[in-house]
Amino acid sequence: MSLRVGIAGAGLLGRLCAWRLALAGHRVQLFEAGNLHQSQAAAVTAAGMIAPLAELADSEPLIHQLGQHSLALWPQWLAQLSQPVAYAQTGSIVVAHPQDRSLLVEFNRRVHHQLNTLSDNQRSPTTLNGEQLRELEPQLAGFNHALLLPSEAHLDNRALMAQLLIELKHLGVDIYGNSSVDVAPQRVGENTVDWALDCRGVGAKGSLPGLRGQRGELMEIECKEVQISRPVRCLHPRYKLYLVPKPHNRYVLGATEIESEDRSAISLRSQWELTSALYALNPAFAEARILASRVNLRPAFTDHRPRLEVMPGLVRLNGLYRHGYLLAPAMVEAMLYQLDIHRAPLTPSQEEISHHAVAAD
Ligand SMILES: Cc1cc2nc3c(=O)[nH]c(=O)nc-3n(C[C@H](O)[C@H](O)[C@H](O)COP(=O)(O)OP(=O)(O)OC[C@H]3O[C@@H](n4cnc5c(N)ncnc54)[C@H](O)[C@@H]3O)c2cc1C
Repeated sequence: MSLRVGIAGAGLLGRLCAWRLALAGHRVQLFEAGNLHQSQAAAVTAAGMIAPLAELADSEPLIHQLGQHSLALWPQWLAQLSQPVAYAQTGSIVVAHPQDRSLLVEFNRRVHHQLNTLSDNQRSPTTLNGEQLRELEPQLAGFNHALLLPSEAHLDNRALMAQLLIELKHLGVDIYGNSSVDVAPQRVGENTVDWALDCRGVGAKGSLPGLRGQRGELMEIECKEVQISRPVRCLHPRYKLYLVPKPHNRYVLGATEIESEDRSAISLRSQWELTSALYALNPAFAEARILASRVNLRPAFTDHRPRLEVMPGLVRLNGLYRHGYLLAPAMVEAMLYQLDIHRAPLTPSQEEISHHAVAAD
């Protein structure tokens, strides 16, 4: 039976939900408050890392489990796009400067501890000495200790968001930009539907108690002098730095995590901290060109768990925090299951996802 589904919010979850529902033959309307092509979604600001192991150091095992499920889905889903989007699953690197080496040891210990609790020792980080690191990434020459987080992935998320819009148009999805809508059971804006999906990210704050936005700032740079092919995290006692390669000698350099809902431009302090940490990764980055800086809000609950709330005629998906690309496919599958569309068993089990995802804040 073909369902009429109305979706509020054309960010990461909204576009993925619309795509999977339309592919399954359902009639979908998608409403976006902002401009569709110059999206305000956090999904467009994001760095596009899919990093279940790195996140395990600071997050609970559920995030890792859902992330592993998403990691299995991403290549299958991306293969269904009519134009390819850059995606690589070649692992990521964690480094620390010699004076911060204890941070690397502690990071490794925490990840191993969490993997032990999951009885999963196949994906453990690999310890690298300087020579082994330079075999993988020759231009990380200044580091003698590193970790390889195998099987982590990254994708060109801005290209994906643009391509999803094209796919939705091909599939006949009705898409309305500059349309801020409210959501209620079987209603999106003025439209009556079988199911309403609330994918408004931080825009759903009034409907989801406890939801907040967390400010994240990052920069896009171009650097022809340094070639790094994998995401690199540099551990530092005061701030976090990651560098994610993008096509055409570009990199995304991020990201701050600031408890504020201020969306104004990047601060001088954040820009200075990010760029000085980058320079310390390889001094040749001094010649990089700053193409853009971006600021957005990560939609998060206090427990930093994702939320899937289901009631008759209404599903709310939210709280993906800094794990949007890591969790979205698993969460979209869980939504399809709730709508009785996807019947294959999920890993972790549907009960486990629902239990955690629907848990009160
Ligand atoms: C700096 C930064 C870096 C990040 N890096 C990563 C990363 O490397 N890996 C990762 O996995 N995640 C990352 N994230 C997190 C990821 O971006 C988010 O978790 C994800 O985008 C959340 O998806 P969403 O669809 O819920 O929200 P969004 O992507 O923000 O989309 C919500 C959409 O709803 C629209 N909307 C709001 N209100 C209304 C309304 N009333 N009517 C209609 N539309 C409305 C908004 O305009 C927006 O387009 C990062 C986030 C930030 C800020």
